[in-house]
Amino acid sequence: MAARKPGRHFFANPGPTNIPDSVLRAMDRPSQDFVEADFLDVFDAARAGLNRVLFSQGEIFFYAATGHGAWEATMVNLFSPGDAVLMIGGGYFSTAWAALSRAFGIEVEMLEVDWRQGVEMAALQARLEADRGHRIKAVCAVHNETSTSVALPLPEIRAAIDAARHPALFLADTISSLGCFEFRMEAWGIDAVVGGSQKGLMLPAGLAFTAAGPKAIAAHRASKSPKFYFDWTAMMERRFRSFTGTVPIVPFFGMVESLRLIEEEGIEHIWARHARLAGATRAAVAAWGASNRGVEFYCQNTARYSDSVTTILVPEGFDADAIRATLRDKFNVSTGGGLASLSGKVFRIGHMGDLNEPMLLGTLAAAEMALTLNHIPHGKGVDAAMEFLTQ
Ligand code: PLP
Repeated sequence: MAARKPGRHFFANPGPTNIPDSVLRAMDRPSQDFVEADFLDVFDAARAGLNRVLFSQGEIFFYAATGHGAWEATMVNLFSPGDAVLMIGGGYFSTAWAALSRAFGIEVEMLEVDWRQGVEMAALQARLEADRGHRIKAVCAVHNETSTSVALPLPEIRAAIDAARHPALFLADTISSLGCFEFRMEAWGIDAVVGGSQKGLMLPAGLAFTAAGPKAIAAHRASKSPKFYFDWTAMMERRFRSFTGTVPIVPFFGMVESLRLIEEEGIEHIWARHARLAGATRAAVAAWGASNRGVEFYCQNTARYSDSVTTILVPEGFDADAIRATLRDKFNVSTGGGLASLSGKVFRIGHMGDLNEPMLLGTLAAAEMALTLNHIPHGKGVDAAMEFLTQ
């Protein structure tokens, strides 16, 4: 067994994220029947609170699953085998969402883009305009591509769909954006939202959901994909309008507390805090890379820098996983690695969820020491982050 490391484990993964102590305590509960009145109140409060965070009033279907389960449930409930959808490419997660959808016979067209920039709206609009017969049933977008740290402007995607006068549904994956930076389901004309518990909502992994507006519910009624456990029609017939079978009660006690924390701080303050901590992280990365032979931002589109994660490209000839190993083994700090083709080339600092300045500075200081120990030339990033935070 590995020796215990003293002190706090610093968790800077881009999900899951730190769970506030009060949320942990709220989930420390004995079993109880899920039809008892006090749980029904908790469930209803969780659903109503989540609708407020989503800025929506529609249905929410919860699943005892992680984000992949919510992707699957969303696709089998909205589409039939042979239906075409347009996936906006740009990273590991859009690629994975496409692969999962294809397994259910959905024809996914990938709109290929430069992963370091994200989609160009003119290209999206042109593709939709070319689809004169309206074969494309949906446009799928990952709001925050957690692998690349490129955040997409969803209102611009809505505007491109509208400008092309295309009736496609608009689906957004908000797994690493909800509760971190601005998201408004209804005002932004989004028909279905895929979300998960383990990032901005500050909960353990294992509770995922789809928020579905009226156009999505209508599409669901026409869907012929095989489904059972995830079937929205069956869910809508139940008291919880979710689940088929036992309701997992524990995550909802946690969610009511995490939503209480979110509403106490205020969602707009949370967005501002994430922007500030992301700004400090970017100040550090920019200073580390100032030598020109050092690290750089993987995302090259400054207007699309993510406020929940920063993906850092290490220079040729260095191994990003060696930096992560130093962070983990020497300093007890966990960071995210490069996914698929980015493996070994990047590491990712998550700055989302329950986080403050000293926690972030601890991670950045450990990362700076790891750069030194791995002989990667770098400037004074922690100084730059502290300066950013004291302006
Ligand atoms: N979508 C995005 C944007 C993600 O960041 C993730 C996971 O990190 C997923 C989907 C997949 O979710 P999960 O790992 O919870 O199945």
